[in-house]
Amino acid sequence: MSSLLHIDNITKRFHGFVALDGVDLEVQPGERLGLIGPNGSGKSTLVNCICGTLQNDSGNVQFDGKPMNGLAAHQRTHRGIARSFQLPRPFHSMTLADNLRIPLLYTVRAREGMLHAHSDLGARCHELLDMVGLAAKAKQMPRDLTQVEMRKLELARAVAAEPKLLIADEAMAGLSHSEIDDILALLLRLNERGITIILIEHIMSAVMSFSQRLAVLVSGRKVADGKPEEVVRDPEVVRAYLGQ
Ligand code: ADP
Ligand code: MG
Repeated sequence: MSSLLHIDNITKRFHGFVALDGVDLEVQPGERLGLIGPNGSGKSTLVNCICGTLQNDSGNVQFDGKPMNGLAAHQRTHRGIARSFQLPRPFHSMTLADNLRIPLLYTVRAREGMLHAHSDLGARCHELLDMVGLAAKAKQMPRDLTQVEMRKLELARAVAAEPKLLIADEAMAGLSHSEIDDILALLLRLNERGITIILIEHIMSAVMSFSQRLAVLVSGRKVADGKPEEVVRDPEVVRAYLGQ
């Protein structure tokens, strides 16, 4: 099986500071990968290099068999890469329905083949809101939402682009146990629908129940990659992260 995401030896520097230092990563279609590491280890920088928010300085990112180097973020979105932000970024002056209508319209335009299938944007909006449990709030504004509802809206917005790969960057920080379970269940449903997911998270119970594989970044380097139960026992991972 060929990888959905193939990252080969990427490096990213900010002025003199090396944020990513020769990182390799493979993600298979349909996989659920956990990506962990201390604050500042380069997780979000890696996400940005995958999504095209940042361009890596060297190395290659391949997605779905095609090189992504040089492509802008919106072009990578069209190819099927979506991400949710650590701090949700809704359109604050729009209703929840309109918050989904925008990425949906954008997706329909970008992929003409989908025009027919998704001619009814309203129905698709409702379907997405329903999927995240926010259908009853379609006409409300983002400011009316609780923190967990805001995270769900953020995920629905990412999924509106019909991604093959969804990267959830700390979608659970600051939530209660039951809210974390809610977000986990949502991510699992999305994965069951065929979306490959990279979960970046500090809450280890969530990471362990979600991930089929675990990769660990420390100071911009990948120090472990493998079965979750083996990775969490890796002495270097314990020393640099889990033992803290
Ligand atoms: P993580 O998501 O693992 O907490 P980040 O990828 O956000 O880590 O950051 C990795 C390192 O790169 C940190 O030291 C951070 O300060 C630095 N960094 C991230 N983005 C930038 C930027 N745009 N400019 C300068 N330094 C940055
Ligand atoms: Mg981060």
